[in-house]
Amino acid sequence: MASDCLFCKIIAGDIPSNEVYSDDDVYAFYDINPATPTHVLIIPKKHLTDINEANLEDTALLGKLLLKANEIAASLGLTQDGFRYVINTGKNGGQTVFHLHLHILGGRALGWPPG
Ligand code: AMP
Ligand code: ZN
Repeated sequence: MASDCLFCKIIAGDIPSNEVYSDDDVYAFYDINPATPTHVLIIPKKHLTDINEANLEDTALLGKLLLKANEIAASLGLTQDGFRYVINTGKNGGQTVFHLHLHILGGRALGWPPG
């Protein structure tokens, strides 16, 4: 837990969130400012600032993050029409919260390339 991290505070329950899924390793919740009709964030409970901070010791954790995202996407009815996963990283990636998070975006057709 990083004491100055917004998402660590959400995991700890110190800041409220709209939970979608939780287990020992990952936490998923609705984005407070949805960019798409369905917009969920899934995060590791372990504080990692961004994807660059992960290493091979995190292989199982990152695999679980992706596979649980698939389960969540399915549970929210996104699988048939499709969806997008996004991990914004650093300044050019548009990252604003510095605790690794995977965006699950769905519910409408998404444009490409991103802005
Ligand atoms: P990023 O720009 O990839 O760092 O994404 C951070 C995301 O966190 C944005 O989509 C925000 O809307 C979302 N966010 C910020 N604060 C909260 C919060 N308290 N609860 C839920 N989502 C949040
Ligand atoms: Zn954190």
